[in-house]
Order: sequence, then structure tokens, then C-alpha cells
Amino acid sequence: MKCDYCRIGRLTHTKVPYITFLDDQMLVLPNVSALRCDMCGEVHFHEGFLEQLQFLLDRLTETEYPPETTDWLALNDQLPYWQPGSRVS
Ligand SMILES: [Zn+2]
Repeated sequence: MKCDYCRIGRLTHTKVPYITFLDDQMLVLPNVSALRCDMCGEVHFHEGFLEQLQFLLDRLTETEYPPETTDWLALNDQLPYWQPGSRVS
């Protein structure tokens, strides 16, 4: 598999730390599977991993909403006809 960044190097499987920020706090995941270019060193994370991580972070940060927002979200979950994923524009 060729590197998308330099288009010369080849991607090899590796484990790297993934670092992200949650507000002002640093979050480090020490052993994340990724692909690293043997020429330029660019690291490519798996798209599925990034999606799962974002999902987890959304779930974690949800607890910090003010109570009235949480009530509104809980109410929204109970409405059977409101489907955010199936909206057609
Ligand atoms: Zn490269």
C-alpha cells in the first residue's frame, strides 16, 4: 500500500501513541494500530478507529451538559418519530 502523503513510501503496520485533547486535558492512547510510511514517516490511523474514538469521546463529554440539556436529550430519545440518521434532505 502506497503512502497518500508522499506517494513514494510504503505503509507498514505499527503501533503508535494516539494523542488528542479533551478541552484542556491531554488524552493519550499508548498502543494504537496504525500504518506508518517508511519514507516520510506519516502515520495513518484506521478510519474505523477514529470513528469509534469520537463516539466514545462524545459519550464521555455528554455527562458534562447542564441538567436541563440532559432532560431535553432524554425526552428526545423517547420520541419515536425523530430519527437523526434517516433524515432525507
Ligand atoms: Zn510517505
